[in-house]
Amino acid sequence: MSIAEYFSSMDYGPAPEDDKAARAWLAEHNARFGHFIGGAWSPFSDAASFETQEPANGRMLARIAQGSAADVDRAVSAARAAQPAWYRLGGHGRAKHLYALARMVQRHSRLFAVLESLDNGKPIRESRDIDIPLVARHLLYYAGWAQLQESEFPDWAPLGVVGQIVPWNFPLLMLAWKIAPALALGNCVVLKPAEFTPLTALLFAELADRAGLPKGVLNVVTGDGTTGAALVEHAGVDKIAFTGSTEVGRLIRKTTAGTGKSLTLELGGKSPFIVFDDADLDSAAEGVVDAIWFNQGQVCCAGSRLLVHEGIEQRFVDKLRRRMETLRVGTSLDKGIDIGAIIDPIQLERITTLVERGVEEGCAVWQPATLRLPKDGSYFPPTLITGVSPASVLAQEEIFGPVLVTMTFRTPDEAVALANHTRYGLAASVWTETIGRALDIAPRLASGVVWINATNLFDASVGFGGYRESGFGREGGREGAYEYLKPRAWTAFKPRTQTRAKVSVPAGGDETSSTSQAGHVAIDVAQGDGEGDLSLATRNVGTPLFIDRTAKLFIGGKQTRPDGGNSTVVLSPAGERLGEVGDGNRKDIRDAVAAARGAQKWANATPHNRSQVLFFLAENLAVRATEFARQLVERTGMSETDATAEVEHSIDRLFTYAAWADKFEGAIHQPPLRGVALAMNEPLGVIGIGCPDEQPLLSFISLLAPAIALGNRVVIVPSRACPLMATDFYQVIETSDVPPGVVNIVTGDPRTLVGVLASHDDVDAVWSFGDAGQSADVERASIGNLKRTFVDHGRELDWTTPDAEGLVFLRQASQVKNIWIPYGD
Ligand code: NDP
Repeated sequence: MSIAEYFSSMDYGPAPEDDKAARAWLAEHNARFGHFIGGAWSPFSDAASFETQEPANGRMLARIAQGSAADVDRAVSAARAAQPAWYRLGGHGRAKHLYALARMVQRHSRLFAVLESLDNGKPIRESRDIDIPLVARHLLYYAGWAQLQESEFPDWAPLGVVGQIVPWNFPLLMLAWKIAPALALGNCVVLKPAEFTPLTALLFAELADRAGLPKGVLNVVTGDGTTGAALVEHAGVDKIAFTGSTEVGRLIRKTTAGTGKSLTLELGGKSPFIVFDDADLDSAAEGVVDAIWFNQGQVCCAGSRLLVHEGIEQRFVDKLRRRMETLRVGTSLDKGIDIGAIIDPIQLERITTLVERGVEEGCAVWQPATLRLPKDGSYFPPTLITGVSPASVLAQEEIFGPVLVTMTFRTPDEAVALANHTRYGLAASVWTETIGRALDIAPRLASGVVWINATNLFDASVGFGGYRESGFGREGGREGAYEYLKPRAWTAFKPRTQTRAKVSVPAGGDETSSTSQAGHVAIDVAQGDGEGDLSLATRNVGTPLFIDRTAKLFIGGKQTRPDGGNSTVVLSPAGERLGEVGDGNRKDIRDAVAAARGAQKWANATPHNRSQVLFFLAENLAVRATEFARQLVERTGMSETDATAEVEHSIDRLFTYAAWADKFEGAIHQPPLRGVALAMNEPLGVIGIGCPDEQPLLSFISLLAPAIALGNRVVIVPSRACPLMATDFYQVIETSDVPPGVVNIVTGDPRTLVGVLASHDDVDAVWSFGDAGQSADVERASIGNLKRTFVDHGRELDWTTPDAEGLVFLRQASQVKNIWIPYGD
């Protein structure tokens, strides 16, 4: 068309971005790339390589080395060698490097943006105006935390060598989200970019080297999933940070179980976009465009489920259709397009198949009739699907394409229920002009990010990450810095020494023998060896006490007989019979979890209220301090002085968490927009806890108190050796206004019971202290619903020290939700 014709039709003409510089860089490398390890290119061999293509037209861009386990090993060694000096450089030294990297990205921003769009197929407008500026912002932001590291994180040390695996949807941005905090805080990195999009990571590594980044600090190994798996399995890696699919996240959790590797997972999502009838519908329609057609919908937090207030559904859907008719799909370097290419024919096929399944289910699929798609390459039109039921595959599966499904709701409660009706919990968007309604809904949504009257906003200062099966850990913000640090004191904890806990089990396990001494077989329980539990010699049991002590379980605020009707005799270190405790089983755990889930009101109680209850627990324990100390002496053989100190420490610890209950408050971020982001520390929900044998009262309180202080409910399995301290404590609980179901105590074999908690899909987190083998079991069993785990890997804490309280525990007891609130008319 001529200019005159465009002028009269007011249509867009092609506005191609210049790709000469990007193609020149590819040519400079002969379109062949080895890995970037130890500050140098590895030799390239065609035999062990794969192609990366332009999704916009399917043409080859370059050949890329397929990383082997040996390549990963070389990269890990390079990172290991570089790490001590990198850390010794100090916060200021590292801040200068991160600043240099940010400047390097800004200086080459157009080259990065073009290369990214070529390799990924995303519109240049997005890589130029969103991805690359955010990359620089992340590097600068964490340059700041490097500078402040010595003053702000004095008790924390870097982890060492970090393996980072990123997906193809935001290749360079995900690289920045991962490497910026890792490098800033003194770690060295081995990064594996996605097979589809390795180019910008390689360019970044090369330019970072030129910008003076010490060799080995950042290493890039390219390849497919097998290269990623080799990195995950490498024994020299201290942490894996992964972004990608929930399925692969699960695999990684399983592989790293019991290794002591730190882990963060940023996984999939099926985020709700909720429009109330009082929303500004024009803005909301524009919001939908950004929510689901940004990056072709290949966004983990894409607003892919539109939930509309019933009364406005038709009006809103009509508006959307009109807007969709104006969307332009085209090649990535055209500056005038809204939607680019799908990453690969495989992904295109996946989207197509899912949409076809929706059609089979009877959903109505709508696509703009006038839309023109480019002839070559992988393209999918913007798609709106109505008539979708909440159970439909389209409402539950992450489509990862430009496909929006809609459902309606009548009341705010129904909107919340629908929004949370997913296994994911990454992000949500709420549209209403009533601020009170928005702020009421936001905390009720199970997601790590909530945008009010906005969507897909990101900033380095605001943490990002999921609830539930969207993963754990945060990227961005101060919380993102902690993901690359470990508490210094914890590194000095020694593996637990072998202890022998005296208990007995009913011989044959029949009910009649369970309550009498006769027929019990005493066993020693080997602790801390990470192997099997019940073994060793049998022998006779001591004389019964005058008044039989048979502690029941404590479930839903009531003392309950164990389901199996069995008890376990508890022996003193000298082998005397101290009493019995119930032998809990799977069903008892199930009841306890149900009771804990039912005590949801505790999460909504005011922090002041929870604080008072913890103070009251301390007060009531203090009243019985002498008795508790006497029992500790009798049950553990510790000295009177140590026992008195343990009770005093326990009271002190309850005070500590009573204090924190209304002071662990979150933050207000000021990202670069007119608005704020509220970072709220929310409880996880139901936490299962296994207690160690050492300091049986204090360790029990030290684990229980932070969890309930922040609004969680717990199912707690006391120490195997000395469970009676915990069962005595439920009398303190009963007199301290703790609502029923907030604390549930199930005695029995911890390895079994904690294992049941770890595989229970209605438990949100499991803490396991006491045995390395149990730690590994818990991490392995947690993959079902990807619950968070906090384990000691068999290392023994001294629970009397300040290292056994405070921030480490409070962070584990909470998850940060960031609520973005833009303001202005
Ligand atoms: P994957 O989870 O497979 O890939 C993410 C990264 O992990 C890539 O670098 C990949 O390598 C690597 N990887 C794959 N398998 C393993 C493994 N066993 N061990 C270690 N690393 C591994 O996602 P896909 O790219 O295959 O996309 C599939 C689906 O995942 C999408 O349709 C979408 O639903 C979801 N997804 C979610 C993302 C998110 O941000 N939450 C991002 C991307 C995808 P490589 O791909 O190079 O072979």
